Amino acid sequence: MAWHLNQWWRNRILEREEIPQHIWQKMIHLRCLNGMDADELRRLQALVLLFLHAKVINGAHDLEITDEMRVTVALQACVLILNLGLDYYDDWIEIIVYPGEFILEYDYADEAGVVHHARNIVSGEAWLSGPVILSWQEMANTHAAPVVHNVFIHEFAHKLDMLHEGANGCPPLHANMSAQTWCDVFSHAYAAFCSQVEEGADTAIDIYAAESPAEFFAVLSEVFFESPAVLKQHFVAVYEQLALFYRQDPAKRVAAGGWPRKMRS
Ligand SMILES: [Zn+2]
Repeated sequence: MAWHLNQWWRNRILEREEIPQHIWQKMIHLRCLNGMDADELRRLQALVLLFLHAKVINGAHDLEITDEMRVTVALQACVLILNLGLDYYDDWIEIIVYPGEFILEYDYADEAGVVHHARNIVSGEAWLSGPVILSWQEMANTHAAPVVHNVFIHEFAHKLDMLHEGANGCPPLHANMSAQTWCDVFSHAYAAFCSQVEEGADTAIDIYAAESPAEFFAVLSEVFFESPAVLKQHFVAVYEQLALFYRQDPAKRVAAGGWPRKMRS
């Protein structure tokens, strides 16, 4: 059952509840929040509270979900919708968190109609109108990875992509955006990136982005929030389209007021 929070209920939650300060103070050092001003952080905090009321976060394999884990997951989901609104996540409820990577088994039919069984080890998964599945271990990997990486942002980006004709790399665009421009920009960038990967070039962006247009959108959304200057440097037109879609300009806020990563605690 989709749980749509009406305005009265939203206000009631925000009047009565708050995120414990000791948890919030840890969270605001996450790289994807770099450069956010007081107003953005206040709105983000409100979204996190509402998100936690609207969604259910369950642990798999006996993983106990603490308040800090709940906020960590919610906060990284809400960074994407800070200027879009919680309604963008209306068609699903559950997040399942595994302690580490997990095995995904599924059947699929090839072009000849032959059904195959696949078994993959994955660190995140987003189901169409279903749950988001995450590996908690990835939280540590996010900060240790040599290339920009955030599986939390990645899976929630898939959720936004799926709102428009399934996962195809094109989320529902706003009235001030052009579907043709989005398609042209992303197609051109995706082809260029795939060529780099095929040539074995050293890419600043995770080569998993070459898997499909949907993965390209999800991976570049990770880079957009985690290291916006890198995306702007390599694919400025993509950066501009994502800035229009997410209604955020993280490169600008990082340049204006962000703290250098080496200073983070
Ligand atoms: Zn993906």
